[in-house]
Amino acid sequence: MIRLTLKPGREVSVARRHPWLFSGGVASAAGDGADGRAEVVDAGGRPLARGAYSPDSQILARLWTFDGRVPDGALFRERFAAARKLREECLPRETTGYRAVNSEGDLCPGVLVDLYGDTAVLELTTRGTEIWRPEIEAAVHDVFAPKRWTVRETGSARDLGRPSPRPSPAGRGRSVEPVEAQIPSPPGGGRGEGEGGERIPFLENGLHFLADASGGQKTGFFLDQRDNRARLRSLARGKSVLNLFSYSGAFSVAALAGGAARAIDVDSSAGALDLAREHRRANGFSAGDADFVQADVFEDVRRRAAAGERWDVVVCDPPAFAKKKADVDRAARGYKDVNRVAMALVAPGGWLLTCSCSGLVDADLFQKIVFSASVDARVAFALVARQGAGPDHPVSLDCPEGEYLKGLWLRRA
Ligand code: SAH
Repeated sequence: MIRLTLKPGREVSVARRHPWLFSGGVASAAGDGADGRAEVVDAGGRPLARGAYSPDSQILARLWTFDGRVPDGALFRERFAAARKLREECLPRETTGYRAVNSEGDLCPGVLVDLYGDTAVLELTTRGTEIWRPEIEAAVHDVFAPKRWTVRETGSARDLGRPSPRPSPAGRGRSVEPVEAQIPSPPGGGRGEGEGGERIPFLENGLHFLADASGGQKTGFFLDQRDNRARLRSLARGKSVLNLFSYSGAFSVAALAGGAARAIDVDSSAGALDLAREHRRANGFSAGDADFVQADVFEDVRRRAAAGERWDVVVCDPPAFAKKKADVDRAARGYKDVNRVAMALVAPGGWLLTCSCSGLVDADLFQKIVFSASVDARVAFALVARQGAGPDHPVSLDCPEGEYLKGLWLRRA
């Protein structure tokens, strides 16, 4: 255990139960923290919180308790059981793939558990939770009883500011990423994998999908878009759908299930498009070569606009363009650019679902960027709905940084 004593006046955020303790607020430390446990006390020595110690991160500790309780196997089991209950109350039927534990949002900072049928994909996103791995695994076993699981340890590498060997899903809310401790990477950089991994079957709203758990992105599937896919499905009948940044084409499968006339997936990753092809077949849809376009979306949309194409629905769900504060301006330009061109592709009366999963671009800023794109595109849209991640991605009010996915449903006048 390590005892971290705060500088005078630096207890405010901990007193508000914010789970991140930045190194700048710490006056002194005693002990070695080899067991990954940290105790936080104020300048007068009064205990405030306990959590996981990450010596190499600017977030020196992620706080789990504020009542003196020591994080241990019993606490992990309790928190996981509470998380499980929330999913039981909120998830739709015929859905066996979902985020079972969402880090800060389930009061388990640094722990993500995605379930795909009988398989758990556990991701430990901080050095401290890596040290607790045996106890966390035991609690996953007790609460979720998966038949199989894989574990990704992405914490140490992330804390040191290095990319982990396999592209970690950092930008996409797999974990809440602190501004100060992020891995810079260009938009889309290193996120194009999708090949070679083990594929785990599961259901989402009765549709068949495969999670590419070892080679894929995130923990193998973008579970956070479930509710947007359901909405697309409900309005897709007879429509043509252009799915930009498609990854494994899950939006297209939902659209086809809703009766879409046609759906095209565009992504830069050949592996992701292979999986997209499999997803169509698994759900009984045909998969012609023309439905899968391997291209840079920024170039592809320009070609389509130049050719005068019009689509009933355009989905635009890019990777996180901003992974650290310094990226925000460049990210804003990227969002504006791709949206401006995508807007021109929407037929009158058609829909654009435009998304951002950059936590650093907040909902207000994203809406402003999209508005400004529509001014430049000279196309009028009505904002019909806002839809972010589903109830298996809860956000703690104490840690609003956990909210990252924005989806705007826009209808062209
Ligand atoms: N909408 C998807 C998730 C998209 S993740 C779903 O619901 O499953 C972002 C995707 O964008 C990744 O598959 C990545 O390969 C792709 N990508 C990143 N940069 C790109 C670019 N410039 N052009 C085309 N695809 C890109």
